[in-house]
Amino acid sequence: MQTKIVATIGPASNTKNKLRELAQAGVSIFRLNFSHGSAGDFIAIIKTIRELEIELATPITIMQDLSGPKIRLGLLPETSITVTKGMRLLLGLEALRSSELPFLPFDHDVILEALEQGDRLVLADGGLQFVVVERRGAHLAVLEAQNNGIVTSRKGLALPGKAMRLPALTEKDRKDLKDGLALGVDAVAISFVQTAQDVHDTKKIIAEAGRNVPVVVKLERQGAVERLDEILAATDIVMVARGDLGVECPLPQLPSIQKKIIRACNRASKPVIVATQMLLSMVNSPAPTRAETTDVANAVLDGADCVMLSEETAMGNFPVETVRYMHEITTEAEKILVEQRQMTEPEASKGIPEFLAYSACLLADKAKTKAIVSHSISGASARQLSSRRPRQRIYALTPDTEALKALNFVWGVSPVHVMAPENEPSHVKRAENFVEQENIFAKGDSVVITAAEPKKGHLAKGTNMVKIYAK
Ligand code: ATP
Ligand code: MG
Ligand code: MG
Repeated sequence: MQTKIVATIGPASNTKNKLRELAQAGVSIFRLNFSHGSAGDFIAIIKTIRELEIELATPITIMQDLSGPKIRLGLLPETSITVTKGMRLLLGLEALRSSELPFLPFDHDVILEALEQGDRLVLADGGLQFVVVERRGAHLAVLEAQNNGIVTSRKGLALPGKAMRLPALTEKDRKDLKDGLALGVDAVAISFVQTAQDVHDTKKIIAEAGRNVPVVVKLERQGAVERLDEILAATDIVMVARGDLGVECPLPQLPSIQKKIIRACNRASKPVIVATQMLLSMVNSPAPTRAETTDVANAVLDGADCVMLSEETAMGNFPVETVRYMHEITTEAEKILVEQRQMTEPEASKGIPEFLAYSACLLADKAKTKAIVSHSISGASARQLSSRRPRQRIYALTPDTEALKALNFVWGVSPVHVMAPENEPSHVKRAENFVEQENIFAKGDSVVITAAEPKKGHLAKGTNMVKIYAK
């Protein structure tokens, strides 16, 4: 299992038995969506997953997903407003309500101030579209409907392509994040990210809590896709959050945006998750559609490290079957991926870590070794190795428990916890001990080992060694 599976927990999957079945079927990362609860609701689930980790003797990663600044309409006094194409409506602060036109209350004054004639507004996940045709002072705008539909209270509102400085972390998110970190979550996903500053703000709170968990940026705004380089440099992991991204960007462009994001992540050796509607029909059916099957396989071929399930495992009727299907589809796709991959030299501008990883993969390939064993503190070398998509499984040994959980996001990597440095100061020796002790390796099997082997009395400064070792 080289491609990792992320599963969202909800009413269909929150019992110990279901969680065990999901983990056994191939889930390495469980996602807790804080749009649908707060820390208190997830305490029991976190405790159960920790018990399962011990029972199944495998590291399981818990990813907290913060809700972020989803913009919504206010409360309508009427049950609903039926909108027809060409109809005009007023959008503005409740205090400015007038009976001239149907009124949509909206209490975000900063957004109202930023609206310009010609701006596009999308309501309720793409269902209804409006264009701003006129401004009326600072806090009122006239909209024209582009299609027919129904507006109800508290509907989500998107402004495709409109860069507005709404920080990704709301007050609720900040509290949820602190509570989640205190409960021991292993990774934090932030929604509606727009700039690298959103990542820095999140990392600051994580550091203040004395933790070092990875940040997952959910790319679901057009502006964020445009600022991909800047955001990628700041974040640890990326999610192609196709739900809201598909509202913000024209749907026909979604496949090319997905490929562009994945390529950038692969190049930077940062894990990338493809999410939303991957096997959606399995909410109600024990088998996926042909198109879904192909979508999952293509995500693997594009270079995704992880594929994610949402409704399928949160509220579907076949959560375990869905994971089993996903696992089978990714396994088949991995065969093609590894066959097709070409062992190319890193670009000349790349550094020594990339060239070391390249050398290790090349050696493993030529010597037909059983595996690659990478010892590192941060897990960075394992990520470098993985981004070359080697045929061999990568065993990533680390004494750092937070790095261990972060490695669960990385394609082809099996994270292994090793003892703290005092017991065996030589990283190479620790890797060799692992090979000797594990019965996955038979006598005569060889592996490629990568490690940071410092000179006596010096501190390890990154991977500096590649060797072939036979058991
Ligand atoms: P997001 O935009 O963050 O993906 P979402 O509303 O699409 O938010 P998902 O996490 O994708 O939520 O889950 C899909 C659906 O599963 C939700 O709309 C909700 O109905 C249900 N769900 C998810 N998590 C929970 C939960 N913890 N409790 C109850 N229902 C949940
Ligand atoms: Mg969300
Ligand atoms: Mg969703």
